[in-house]
Amino acid sequence: MLENVNEKCAVVGIFGHKEASKLAYFSLHSLQHRGQEAAGISSSNGTKLHTIKDRGLVMQIFDEAKLTTLSGNSAIGHTRYSTAGNDSILDAQPVFARYDLGEMAIVHNGNLTNAQEVRERLIKKGAIFQTFMDTENLIHLIAKSEKEKLLERIIDAVKKIEGAFSLVFLSRTKMFAMRDRHGFRPLSLGRIANGGYVVASETCAFDLIGAEFIRDVEPGELLIFEKDKAPISIKVYEPTPKKCIFEYVYFARPDSSVFGQSVYQMRKNMGAELSKIKPVEADMVIPVPDGGVPSAIGYAQASGIPYEMGIMRNHYIGRTFIEPTQEMRDLKVKMKLSPMIDTIKGKKVIVIDDSIVRGTTSRRIVRMLKDAGATEVHMRISSPPTTDPCFYGVDTPDKNKLIASNMSTEEICEFIEADSLAYLNSDALLRSVHAKDDEYCTACFTGEYII
Ligand code: AMP
Repeated sequence: MLENVNEKCAVVGIFGHKEASKLAYFSLHSLQHRGQEAAGISSSNGTKLHTIKDRGLVMQIFDEAKLTTLSGNSAIGHTRYSTAGNDSILDAQPVFARYDLGEMAIVHNGNLTNAQEVRERLIKKGAIFQTFMDTENLIHLIAKSEKEKLLERIIDAVKKIEGAFSLVFLSRTKMFAMRDRHGFRPLSLGRIANGGYVVASETCAFDLIGAEFIRDVEPGELLIFEKDKAPISIKVYEPTPKKCIFEYVYFARPDSSVFGQSVYQMRKNMGAELSKIKPVEADMVIPVPDGGVPSAIGYAQASGIPYEMGIMRNHYIGRTFIEPTQEMRDLKVKMKLSPMIDTIKGKKVIVIDDSIVRGTTSRRIVRMLKDAGATEVHMRISSPPTTDPCFYGVDTPDKNKLIASNMSTEEICEFIEADSLAYLNSDALLRSVHAKDDEYCTACFTGEYII
């Protein structure tokens, strides 16, 4: 069975800048929250592509000497987040290949839903795969395409894949960026102050490298970057937007603008809505850092209940979610979060987090706050119950491990030992992000999958 190894990731592309790989490096650094398992950069100097990729964090992988090797005016990069067990270096990106038209490299954020089918077809025709990545399908599709030019081959290849993809391709002289027709995953276009263009999963990458946001790459749109030209746009598909609402709930950085709106403001709106529909009397509102911070601010401002820092986060530890065993996850939650005893002792507290997945974090936090002397702990979640897994690029466990798919809110409340538990409902979530029509994918809360 093909593993999903291109889950929540970040992609970046820099074109037409003499320090392209350095800018890609800085961009990846600001996109590190989208994947901490592996990272890589491919650059082109016009005649040859160079690739460096490894396991670990962006800052651990690259240094000045390595970035100097990655010469040229264009570069693409990737940070990878995937489920446990797929930690082979081969599964890091960019995926690089030599083929009849020369050399190419690809980075991908999202999950291809027909990857297994396409791969089996390719294997029957003699293709040899090196990795479990669905992205490798694209290399084969492009290499085997009978079209003459790379642009035509890319279009040919993307028409054979389905699912979620924000892709950046690099050839020796061009760069291409494409978003699937539903635009599940974000991808924005910017202009670099002293020349060139950037595409990146989130706009926080632009801020760091001094680039100005131009617009989002549209769902179904392919952008072509060529020397001394403005990007050329091709509509490969009529857009049918189904943008991932979980980008707003948890995934994107609050200082990014995603799908045209400030992530921070959307999260504050969620907190404000939550305070209106699920009010509770308490002495203070505290966030589960860092994910719960903006919505806790929104909750506190809308309710008038003071906002306090009740939990301290140790920043020298990665996310708890990626550990393979439950024991490790439990231990890491303890290592990561500690109570501010003087602040919470003898107090009734409202704790805000963005989501409950397996329930591990909430249960630990309630216990920790009670052990620290909180008299009441009211858990408020700024999204609806996560009942269904994501097949479009967010790493969620199987349905049977999602606590909300097996237990009612009352049962979860009992399990996490809180005095009360309440979630934001779907309508209030959609209201918070100013949703129009059916433009967001909410499958993780509803089980309604478009593909
Ligand atoms: P759990 O302990 O399994 O209930 O995980 C809940 C915590 O994981 C919350 O604090 C969320 O901020 C965080 N979270 C939610 N979704 C994800 C995800 N896809 N990847 C990593 N962390 C997540």
